[in-house]
Amino acid sequence: MQTQRLRIAIQKKGRLSKECQTLLKRCGVKFNMVGERLVVHAENMPIDLLLVRDDDIPGLIMDGVVDLGVIGENELEEVSLERQARGEPSDYKKLRRLDFGGCRLSIAIDKDAEYNGPQDLNGKRIATTYPQLVKRYMDDLGVKFSTCMLNGSVEVAPRAGLADAICDLVSTGATLEANGLKEAEVILRSKAVLIQSTETLDDEKQALIERLLTRMQGVIQAKESKYIMLHAPTDRLEQIKLLLPGAEDPTVLPLAEDKSRVAIHLVSSENLFWETMEQLKELGASSILVLPIEKMME
Ligand code: ATP
Ligand code: MG
Repeated sequence: MQTQRLRIAIQKKGRLSKECQTLLKRCGVKFNMVGERLVVHAENMPIDLLLVRDDDIPGLIMDGVVDLGVIGENELEEVSLERQARGEPSDYKKLRRLDFGGCRLSIAIDKDAEYNGPQDLNGKRIATTYPQLVKRYMDDLGVKFSTCMLNGSVEVAPRAGLADAICDLVSTGATLEANGLKEAEVILRSKAVLIQSTETLDDEKQALIERLLTRMQGVIQAKESKYIMLHAPTDRLEQIKLLLPGAEDPTVLPLAEDKSRVAIHLVSSENLFWETMEQLKELGASSILVLPIEKMME
């Protein structure tokens, strides 16, 4: 059942929702999130946003109900394995990894327990929201285990006597520490990804997806880049260039009055650290500016 408008499923509320919305807005998609709506129509493009629980996004893509979705790889792979096990459609196209939602799926155990490797997990009960990913990891290593499925408060399971270990998402490790646990194994490193259903779309929709992807590339690249400007003594130009990150071919411009100095402009793929700015200053550079870039197209 295809509609004229491109349908994109994003998380309604949670860790991915704000960054998803910001990314789409930066790509020029105009929309207004009001109330508790399931579908939000973009004002300036034939795009509808579907606001759902993140658990539902992989299935909506795999069943071809929506065209695009943004989802954490952890959730995507878990649902994909689950569907494969049940013989349901589990195909999707990964269009690109995004620059947010980073975390790792890790097995954690009592912080005082001795740990020498995955064999120490033999026969243990592991509480998790990701039973399929745990099974794939443990089966590959040939380690026997059992699971305890929990959709929330996984980290309290060992203390509550429900399990010996847990497998849960970690970003800083603070939650583990607060619950007397330590990370034993990282089983998956995850980020948010943009996925597409494998249904064949009409040319217009496919062209719109390509456009969005080019814009996303520009937005993400711009976020990682800086525009750097400085004045430098002409006779130290080569030394100064060596300090500038990613400066293969900077623009060098004469100054109106002072012929002993030049202006250097460049787009850098990295930030300029304080330490480098201090070194530049020692070499005689001045008026050093590091500016954020909003958009980029190559
Ligand atoms: P929903 O109500 O939509 O089902 P949820 O509670 O399942 O939300 P969130 O906690 O909002 O999910 O996390 C969404 C995704 O954010 C995770 O699946 C993961 O990909 C990513 N993420 C990044 N860092 C973390 C973290 N520290 N803990 C949990 N998830 C994280
Ligand atoms: Mg969820």
